[in-house]
Amino acid sequence: MTDQHTLTNPITQYQMPEPPEQSLSGTGLDSELVPTADHGQDSYRGSGRLEGRKALITGGDSGIGRAVAIAYAREGADVVLSYLPEEQSDADDVAALVRATGRTCVLVPGDIADESFARELVRRAVDELGGLDILANIAGRQKFVDELADLTSESFDLTFKTNVHALFWIIQEALPHLPAGASIINTSSIQAYKPSPNLVDYATTKAAINTLSKALAQQLAPQGIRVNVVAPGPIWTPLQASGGQPPAKLPTFGEQTPYGRAGQPAELAPAYVFLASQESSYVSGETLNVNGGTPTP
Ligand code: NAD
Ligand code: MG
Repeated sequence: MTDQHTLTNPITQYQMPEPPEQSLSGTGLDSELVPTADHGQDSYRGSGRLEGRKALITGGDSGIGRAVAIAYAREGADVVLSYLPEEQSDADDVAALVRATGRTCVLVPGDIADESFARELVRRAVDELGGLDILANIAGRQKFVDELADLTSESFDLTFKTNVHALFWIIQEALPHLPAGASIINTSSIQAYKPSPNLVDYATTKAAINTLSKALAQQLAPQGIRVNVVAPGPIWTPLQASGGQPPAKLPTFGEQTPYGRAGQPAELAPAYVFLASQESSYVSGETLNVNGGTPTP
């Protein structure tokens, strides 16, 4: 069993059987991903780093967001999870894990690419939790398209609405409620610096997220609100198996990294915990890369 604390070689940690080619429908369910991903449910041990905090986690049903939800709850935070209605079964699985820790878990399904819902989501989170001090924006849309000629305006628009516009709407709506000491954490990607030729729209949104966050971090510093980014490398999640990558690429997914393997969602959670907690008090406008050793600018 992989452990969060024991000295371990990271290259051989989180061994995973080779994924078969697969194509999950819609945004994909964690429950249908083969092989299953590791979200830290059997390994993450909290130590009170987020005691009493109130967190909104978008994309909290699966993948990286699920690992973050588990970790935040075990660190003592109550959480609201956002996800698409078609992912209800995944969200229910996460809610059971969070509630097992004794923390509150509120589920708010809906489409954050819709401005009115994105804003409503924040108001629901504030109402349900009695405030908000951690905003973990993890939801994202990634669909590969080989030729620019085949990238439709609708798809381009939806990628930007989900990855960039929703961030603007959610952060703007949350700001009046965030106290000094609050933390906003956005999710970029190695694609921001090393874009794949078939991810033109997605990679561009991820660069935008880095830049948006660095501008906003300076604007909000006088209020004592920190803004940071986590930039994952290739992580084994339903995003990749539901059109994020060509199915033929999945068996070797992540092998191009210096580690020679994909990362697991569990390996992302500590970065989101660090950036949410008071331990990162002097860190703002930073992008924390969690990518198996790939150099970044
Ligand atoms: P994931 O599919 O498990 O999570 C993405 C989530 O986004 C979905 O579960 C869904 O709930 C949510 N989402 C998508 N569109 C939405 C919409 N319109 N309304 C509401 N929710 C919506 O995959 P993941 O890999 O854990 O992705 C999490 C984040 O990590 C994304 O921002 C992704 O771009 C980023 N990322 C992932 C990788 C990777 O290799 N998996 C690499 C770099 C960055
Ligand atoms: Mg999902």
